[in-house]
Amino acid sequence: MATAERDYYEILGVERGASDGEIKKAFRRLARELHPDVSEAPDAEERFREAAEAYEVLSDPERRATYDRFGREGLRGRGFTPGDFDLGSLSDIFGAFFGEAFFGQGRQASRARPGRGADVAAVAEIALADAFAGSRVTVSVRVARTCASCGGDGAEPGTRPVTCSTCGGAGRVQQVSQSVFGQFVRSAACPRCDGDGRIVESPCAACDGAGRILEDRSLDVDVPAGIADGQRIRLRGEGHAGSLGGPPGDLFVQVHVRPQPGIERDGDDLHAAAELTMTQAALGALVTVPGPEGEIELELPAGTQPGSVHVLEGRGMPSLHGGRRGDMHVHVRVRVPRVLTPAQRELVEQLDASLGEGAYHADDGFFGRLRNVFR
Ligand SMILES: [Zn+2]
Ligand SMILES: [Zn+2]
Repeated sequence: MATAERDYYEILGVERGASDGEIKKAFRRLARELHPDVSEAPDAEERFREAAEAYEVLSDPERRATYDRFGREGLRGRGFTPGDFDLGSLSDIFGAFFGEAFFGQGRQASRARPGRGADVAAVAEIALADAFAGSRVTVSVRVARTCASCGGDGAEPGTRPVTCSTCGGAGRVQQVSQSVFGQFVRSAACPRCDGDGRIVESPCAACDGAGRILEDRSLDVDVPAGIADGQRIRLRGEGHAGSLGGPPGDLFVQVHVRPQPGIERDGDDLHAAAELTMTQAALGALVTVPGPEGEIELELPAGTQPGSVHVLEGRGMPSLHGGRRGDMHVHVRVRVPRVLTPAQRELVEQLDASLGEGAYHADDGFFGRLRNVFR
């Protein structure tokens, strides 16, 4: 093969005096570019293999010194066959460079051990009034429970799972596959035991050997007063059962608070609008605004201004953490007649004439109760 005799420095594109760092960097760049999982160039595999071989030699000070002085022949003389390098060390190189994920599989064998169960998610929808007062909702979840018959090991009562002879209980096996390197070794879940490291010879009849049983459950969940839309309530241990005796996961109930028409929620504060006619605003009026627990009556004083905000302290949402309750902000809108008959027009004109400019200027005491928080 002609390409096999190319100079290692040339292959990596570095000077003969290149530092270890430069060599590493050059190989890293080439490997990213040429890796057969990534590159589509027809000669990528061959060039990748070449680059790997060059790196295998030049990254090792002893081999590099041998190569510098005696070339490939010198390496062969010292028992190193170019291109026939240790696949284990090569995969270590890739591990260090790219992380295990580059090859899709971790290499460490891991014995199957108790695992925590997965979390389960559920959604509950409540009205604003329920969020205001606190409530209890029922959620339905399908969760894996440890099989009571076998206690979770999947073996028929009276029998025990045996260690898998294929993987020796490790749950993973080394697989040798043909690749661009010739052979490539990777570790994969044991095909015989599916990574469990053990074999159940007489599966439990109740769970078919799974050790867990899916169960539909209804759970009552207390929703605390003041909960916000989208918040999650965690119920520890109500998720899926763990494997091999591991602890169960948690149940997360996401609470959706339905908006209530006419009410805007801003944290613990609520906002609603009160509509007054022009004359009500001038004379004062008893109005009702929507509240989370039904309508709220409030008396607006004579001279109430459009856009003013009447704050009902402590009438907003309760604080989820037991702090101060929010406020209810009542935003005043004033309706002005759009159509007047000639007679009405005359009356308004008479009124206008009798109202001096002073009638429109409030004294501070009068509006002291009205806090304008318009943003
Ligand atoms: Zn069972
Ligand atoms: Zn196995």
